[in-house]
Amino acid sequence: MSQPNLISLVGQNREQLAVSLASIGVSESQVRMRVNQLYHWIYERGVSEFDAMLNLSKSLRADLNAKFTLGRPEIVEEQVSVDGTRKWLFRFTRSDGTAGQPVDVETVYIPEPERGTLCVSSQVGCSLTCTFCHTGTQKMVRNLTSSEILSQVLAARDRLADHPDSAIDPEIIAPHSGRKVSNIVMMGMGEPLLNFDNVKNALLIALDDTAMGFSRRRVTLSTSGVVPAIGKTAREIRCMLAISLHAVDDELRNELVPINRKYPLKKLLEACREYPEIANCRRITFEYVMLKDVNDSLEEAEELVRLLQGIPAKVNLIPFNPWPGSQYECSSKKQINRFANYLIDRGFESPVRTPRGRDIFAACGQLKSASEKPSKASLRDGSGEGHGVVELG
Ligand code: SAH
Ligand code: SF4
Repeated sequence: MSQPNLISLVGQNREQLAVSLASIGVSESQVRMRVNQLYHWIYERGVSEFDAMLNLSKSLRADLNAKFTLGRPEIVEEQVSVDGTRKWLFRFTRSDGTAGQPVDVETVYIPEPERGTLCVSSQVGCSLTCTFCHTGTQKMVRNLTSSEILSQVLAARDRLADHPDSAIDPEIIAPHSGRKVSNIVMMGMGEPLLNFDNVKNALLIALDDTAMGFSRRRVTLSTSGVVPAIGKTAREIRCMLAISLHAVDDELRNELVPINRKYPLKKLLEACREYPEIANCRRITFEYVMLKDVNDSLEEAEELVRLLQGIPAKVNLIPFNPWPGSQYECSSKKQINRFANYLIDRGFESPVRTPRGRDIFAACGQLKSASEKPSKASLRDGSGEGHGVVELG
């Protein structure tokens, strides 16, 4: 577990590592080589102790230990679904050396035969109150740092025995071959494009061949439609993009995804039209949650086809995952299939996403940690722990 007074090097890029090394007296002529070594150990090999870095001198390891950490979050809870999906509740204390309340964050691992996907959180809570999303009912607490975003990946790999040097664990359901975490989706708690700089820093390290080396096809950022940041994502991160569309007219989308009032459909789709060419990716995924009698008619499927004209697109239909107090019902299987077939007949790939991990409340939109901003009163009387266990259905 990380100690609050030590600074985590996880999440630091080459320039930041160079500054950190200089701060403990590593000479200019050595910095480049040392940064390369740290990159290899931290991101490629996934070690969590400086003492495991055998090609660093003992004295350098001691200097690193005195000021820095590669500490992982505390694991408050780990749940394993009958389908092999895993959900962790990670607790982070500030990793930048500053004091602050600990926060709880959920991360989900979804194994499939061909891939293992890690669903990573970008914020604690979310400021955008989409009406069908459980996270949206949790007040925004704060942005996660780049360190906390990448630490979710490293901590998941620790638990899944997914580092190059890990021993085999036969208990873990995993893809048939390759790394257990083969894909990253920024689809956990929070809106990644409202935490652009930290998400960018973390994803660029995930994508760097000399760091984690994920291929661009295997890293997807999902946004509810923060339009000004979409072009920036195309130019500066160049990962795959998923858009949480969920409605085909502004009136309904204003209600379901309130950020639509600021960035309406027309503006959103304009940004999407430009994305594939700038980011050099084949197509965009549009996510569409199936809400019974709300957005699931064939007229809406027809309008969806019209809206997506000219955008290389795939439509991911997500059966609505209920949560305590939610006001919607999931569309019937029959209606979801009719909707999907309408799109397929018109040339769209339209998979229906199989809900995973519903028994442990790990499915899309079900994530919500109990972290809250401490009230002034609780800070005064010292009761404001600001965290707790995850709410379960
Ligand atoms: N904030 C980002 C990423 C996190 S949400 C975004 O909104 O895109 C990941 C996906 O789950 C989004 O498409 C979101 O709309 C969807 N989702 C949220 N609540 C859901 C629910 N209850 N059932 C099914 N999907 C849901
Ligand atoms: Fe936030 Fe995404 Fe949930 Fe909307 S769907 S409230 S943007 S996490």
